[in-house]
Amino acid sequence: MSIIEKSACELIEMLGNREISSREVTAAFCDRIEAVDSRVRAFLHYDRDQALRRADEIDHRRSAGQEVGLLAGVPVAIKDILCARGEPTTCGSKMLEHFKAPYDAHVIERLDRAGAVRLGRVNMDEFAMGSSCENSAYQKTANPWDLRRVPGGSSGGSAACVAALEAPLSIGTDTGGSIRQPASLCGIVGLKPTYGRVSRFGLVAYASSLDQIGPMARSVVDAALLLEAIAGHDPRDSTSLPHPVPPYRQSCQQPLPKLRVGVVTDYFGEGLDEEVAVAVKKAIEVYRSLGATIVDVRLPTSAHAIPTYYVVATAEASSNLARYDGVHYGHRAKEYRDLVDMYKRSRGEGFGHEVKRRIMLGTLALSAGRRDAFYNKALQVRRLLRGDYDAAFQQCDVVLGPTSPTAAFKLGEKSDDPLAMYLSDIYTVATNLAGLPGLSLPCGFTKSGLPIGLQLQGPAMAEETLLRAGYMYEQATDWHRQTAPLAGTS
Ligand code: GLN
Repeated sequence: MSIIEKSACELIEMLGNREISSREVTAAFCDRIEAVDSRVRAFLHYDRDQALRRADEIDHRRSAGQEVGLLAGVPVAIKDILCARGEPTTCGSKMLEHFKAPYDAHVIERLDRAGAVRLGRVNMDEFAMGSSCENSAYQKTANPWDLRRVPGGSSGGSAACVAALEAPLSIGTDTGGSIRQPASLCGIVGLKPTYGRVSRFGLVAYASSLDQIGPMARSVVDAALLLEAIAGHDPRDSTSLPHPVPPYRQSCQQPLPKLRVGVVTDYFGEGLDEEVAVAVKKAIEVYRSLGATIVDVRLPTSAHAIPTYYVVATAEASSNLARYDGVHYGHRAKEYRDLVDMYKRSRGEGFGHEVKRRIMLGTLALSAGRRDAFYNKALQVRRLLRGDYDAAFQQCDVVLGPTSPTAAFKLGEKSDDPLAMYLSDIYTVATNLAGLPGLSLPCGFTKSGLPIGLQLQGPAMAEETLLRAGYMYEQATDWHRQTAPLAGTS
């Protein structure tokens, strides 16, 4: 097995035993990026020399007998939405084309402290708004399983680079499904942690009450390892939770006797692709054969999750994105008549269509006279949703369903139909509205060879349960061991 096919945990073991150096590991992934990224187009910024210098530093520290961290010498790709001092952070937007972050995000500090080798910055939908990565102002990332198809979004670059073996691990963010849906479409594992589990300090805000940062990897154990490195309290994010960080990497491998799996019957109705439904139902049988108790549960309010999300998220976005005015931040128009004209032109030129659409929607939902009908109503539905989950978790430990209603769709297929695109998130947005953790993992393939994802959601701070339940399933199947062929021409 070549270096790039190994899991992060295997690489860590080999690095620890001095069977291999971080320089060799990093060079192998850099070679892969140079060989395939012109077709996958996951990376926005990539600097081989910088990555190799960092790898040398870790190798040197290790041979000098100094303490090295949890991820010492292992490459990690970063979604281009986390600030890293002196580095570009474009958020997939022309608005931030020339922005260099003046400080490190908490997650970047954590990765650096853990000895990770940051490999580069990967593509995303502009300001994390989208489900296909096609809203990036820079490039369209392809799905490594079929290069004519989308990788999902908004963390499409993070998912595609891991599926294409360009990085063993990546960081994504999830406001309404942006870790789980691309993980599902690219056949990898993605975990959206409980709101507050990972600090958002230094994460460019889209919808602050929903945004979470999380791990993407090719197996549950690797995702657990990366979560262990980035989770934990940070006083700089007032919503960060104080709970201690369990040793996720080890604990996820402990079996879960007496697991109760709740099957969300509301998820198996209209709009769900037949092949996805069949694969997910087979996964239920795998759990049954592993000794889990299967119960039916209802999440009736989830029928309203999409409109609720698109009111709450756009309202918060309209407020968060007000700062990009060409003065505080962002692109400034070259020609303008007066101050107001300068704001208008700067924002008009800097933002793409989807971002503008959402700013307008959110501004409308918050406007005088409409706030009660839209925003306040959405907050009430959000509360009901959380109540649904609380009731469901009286009956089970995790709820199970599909991550996405379909496998990867074709590039361009939904770009002119925002509502069809929004429906890609039908099973994921409620998790964020309720602040809960959700895990997506591979559970099969369509007849045409596209990956299908299974979603497990749990109560707040139940990451360990989700990872253990995911690991159990993964041990009984080999979907996650398949490698994307990089087939088709994009
Ligand atoms: N696809 C969803 C949206 O377009 C979710 C995005 C996200 O989680 N960042 O808003």
